Amino acid sequence: MNAVWFKRDLRVYDNPALHQAMLAGDTVGVYCLSEWEWEHHRVSPMQRALIVDHLQALAEHLAAYQVPLIILRTSTFEDTAQSLKRFVIEQGITSLYFNQQYELNEHRLDQQVAALLSDVSVRTYIFDDQCAIAPGQILNQQGECFKVFTAFKRRYIEAFYSLARPITSVPSAQVKMAVQTDLSALDALSRERFPNPGVTVGEEAAHQQLEDFIDEKVSDYHQKRDFPSLNATSKLSAYLAIGVLSTRQCLQAAINRNQGRLGDGHPGMVSWISELIWRDFYRHLMCAYPKLSMNRAFKDDTDALPWRHHEGDFKRWCEGRTGFPIVDAAMRQLNQTGWMHNRLRMIVAMFLTKDLFIDWRWGEAYFMSRLVDGDFASNNGGWQWSASTGVDAAPYFRIFNPTRQSQRFDPEGTFIRQYVPELSSLSSKQIHQPSEAVRQQLGYPSAMVDHAKAAERTKAWFKGEQAIEMVDRTEDVTPEQSRSTSLNHELPFL
Ligand code: FAD
Repeated sequence: MNAVWFKRDLRVYDNPALHQAMLAGDTVGVYCLSEWEWEHHRVSPMQRALIVDHLQALAEHLAAYQVPLIILRTSTFEDTAQSLKRFVIEQGITSLYFNQQYELNEHRLDQQVAALLSDVSVRTYIFDDQCAIAPGQILNQQGECFKVFTAFKRRYIEAFYSLARPITSVPSAQVKMAVQTDLSALDALSRERFPNPGVTVGEEAAHQQLEDFIDEKVSDYHQKRDFPSLNATSKLSAYLAIGVLSTRQCLQAAINRNQGRLGDGHPGMVSWISELIWRDFYRHLMCAYPKLSMNRAFKDDTDALPWRHHEGDFKRWCEGRTGFPIVDAAMRQLNQTGWMHNRLRMIVAMFLTKDLFIDWRWGEAYFMSRLVDGDFASNNGGWQWSASTGVDAAPYFRIFNPTRQSQRFDPEGTFIRQYVPELSSLSSKQIHQPSEAVRQQLGYPSAMVDHAKAAERTKAWFKGEQAIEMVDRTEDVTPEQSRSTSLNHELPFL
């Protein structure tokens, strides 16, 4: 009998490991639920709820193919590996199939499981599912991963039809097995801590949302995607983060509607395809540079910058009380819904790192602890882009002015009004930067920094013109810490 080990690939369609296992013979599914890992990786309560909901949906979907799903409760990575070993022995499994993960700890776990199972003569079959083109296949002339997105994308598009993995189908239902689905491990979870993720559950729902987006919204995507009040993006990220949908399926849907093209054709489609390629780009980088999974900047010298660890300032940012309306509206959107618009993610990340000069790792961790779509590679990539510490990042001297971003991308203040209701009576001219008197009258905080001065100070630090000293820098960065260990400066209230 075969087993498929599900991880962040909670789907039946286009699941290479499931497909191959079922082709090879009778198959049972297994999932290792580890609250220890959730805590360690700061998986948000909303994403935990999303995973639990989708485990139930996955069990139902698999049942239609007579594939039972068994959930094991595990703790550390070591415990997960040992639990899987016990499971295969008890169930008489001869082969384990799984899609690999690329984060350093998860990659090591995959290797450990393969080694442990080989000791008991169980074969492992490992597949790539997360990227349309597997990491390590898009390389520059030196045989390395591209460090510039446009070059990566060009090569990716050229190579797509030769290198992209095919979409896999699901083989026919198997004959009913003696093994029963067992989700009892979910019962012991204290579910009351899980807020509603606000995502319709199930693979069918995800596909419907993808189809609706392609039918109704993608044609304007290139023009509207930067305006947070417009609801003009796909909002598929939560499904993608836990693998209810694959990037490959999204790309295929877009390519089909774009006459088979990726790099040209309909501008909305081309722009959306490009965003999906960013997702793959960050995964390719994560594989090529393990230090990215270890709390380290891609550009080593930026780890020597005097990043601040000021709890009070950080708390104001987290709570949406910075006195910059667009930043506060965005942070409140995150806190209330678990999702934030991409333009706003860039604005708040730039604000934290360039205006407050707070360590990007704190922002990265806070995002993970709140986002329903928290995804290590995309989040780390987005934070390092904004902090100018990453690959092909925003140049350090191009610092977003939050007020100008607000005027440009929320011109009427529609989005601000939704999340900062105390400012809702202000005109579209006033709302981006209310006067001090108005702030006092409405009980809205004063701006916590002078943007122009903060931007100058940050540029000087990056240029190395300012002495690298900061009052609240207490320890050196410990580069070898993995993201699974605590942050260098323990987050005050996560
Ligand atoms: P759409 O615009 O419809 O895009 C479709 C899909 O493409 C997204 O669902 C996503 O999977 C992918 N995508 C889009 N933009 C990016 C991007 N810039 N980088 C990587 N993939 C992208 N995305 C996450 O999925 N999880 C995160 O934890 C995450 N953290 C981020 C942190 C910061 C600081 C920044 C700047 C960006 C982050 N992103 C993250 C990327 C992006 O903001 C979200 O993917 C996007 O807002 C999700 O909304 P959507 O599904 O409507 O996207």
